Amino acid sequence: MRIRDIQTAVIEANYDWTIVKVLTDEDIVGYGECFFAPGLTRIIHELKPLLIGQKVADIDRLCRLLREAGATGAGQGGMFFHAVAGIEIALWDAFAQWLEVPLYQLFGGALRTKIRIYADCHAGEGLSSLSAICTPRIPWWMSPTRETQHFHEIHLRAHGGRSEEARQLPDPQAYARRAAQVKAMGYTALKFDVDIPNPYIRDEFNRSLDNREIQMMESIVAAVREAVGDDVDIAIDCHWRFSAESAIRLAEALKPYRLLWLEDPVPPDSMEALKQVTTASPVPIAVGENHYTRSQFYDLLVRGGVSILAPDFQKTGLLEGKRIADLAEMFTVLVAPHNISSPIGTLASAHLCATIANFLVLEHHGLDVPFWEELAFGWDGPIIRNGYIELSETKAGIGVELNETVALRYRRRDEPFFDRL
Ligand code: MG
Repeated sequence: MRIRDIQTAVIEANYDWTIVKVLTDEDIVGYGECFFAPGLTRIIHELKPLLIGQKVADIDRLCRLLREAGATGAGQGGMFFHAVAGIEIALWDAFAQWLEVPLYQLFGGALRTKIRIYADCHAGEGLSSLSAICTPRIPWWMSPTRETQHFHEIHLRAHGGRSEEARQLPDPQAYARRAAQVKAMGYTALKFDVDIPNPYIRDEFNRSLDNREIQMMESIVAAVREAVGDDVDIAIDCHWRFSAESAIRLAEALKPYRLLWLEDPVPPDSMEALKQVTTASPVPIAVGENHYTRSQFYDLLVRGGVSILAPDFQKTGLLEGKRIADLAEMFTVLVAPHNISSPIGTLASAHLCATIANFLVLEHHGLDVPFWEELAFGWDGPIIRNGYIELSETKAGIGVELNETVALRYRRRDEPFFDRL
């Protein structure tokens, strides 16, 4: 089976879900997904001449060729890797369909088929949508009503914007209500942002937290713990925002709430700051969504001393993701993959999680996207049920096709939609 064509489409959801479609000479079609980036589909189309006519099964060789092609222009990470990851996932999906096996069989078989999912609840509000350069937006398919204007205000607030609402104190009870709702849906783990919104911020660049800010963050976590009780795990995201000393003071304040992890407390490129935090923090520290290769993850483990790795398989790809997880297993470090994808990327990640001994929990970031479930074609009932994805032992590949009729309805209009312009 050889590659006949590579096509792309972008769905405008809470992020730009970037889908890669591999067409083969045997009429098998594979779908993959990349983590969004500005100009990403242009890179995928530039790579096409290296792929057309190649054997679908030669996945490692092809990915090495693609990364080599980008090595001088793109370095060891970033959007070029996102492009390769999306192509790679589509190739695994096509190859597994050709073999008529679930994708997890290609990575050693499933250690479990029921994959635990955690819900990202960001800043405790409803749908928040970001452009490819992470600015708040109203998706074009939302009609311009007062309600959408309200959404936009919330987006600005959630992302630290300068609207009137951004200057208001966040309400811990809103986070608590959201947590209780998500628990009632069956989730056993959830994640909130505490770094945004932050009306107390004095200096946008120095990364310091004062006592008021730490107290505000603690009050949010306390309300969430109170709302869900002890049997739901809580993770907290900091988006690389703090200095080492501020992160340590925050971690100490959050110790009583028995967090699953504190995520990305310090800038992703400072291994020394990370080491200070992991050494002093009484809360497990999770890092990884901005890292790409196993040598970068080796540094996180050995120099950074992290407790939990959070690779994003729509950035690393699946094969490198498996290598990263195996590396972490040598340190008895758990893997909790980051994931903001449509059902295509989420299911591809779930298949890999099935094969990872040290898997903890997989993220779902699409809870508020009204058509998330509708995008998958060929699954029986909801993909996420009671906080789990139960993988089929009989469905080949990732187990679904993209529902292109639904995807077309929410397409990004300035992007190609597969073979249509
Ligand atoms: Mg994060």
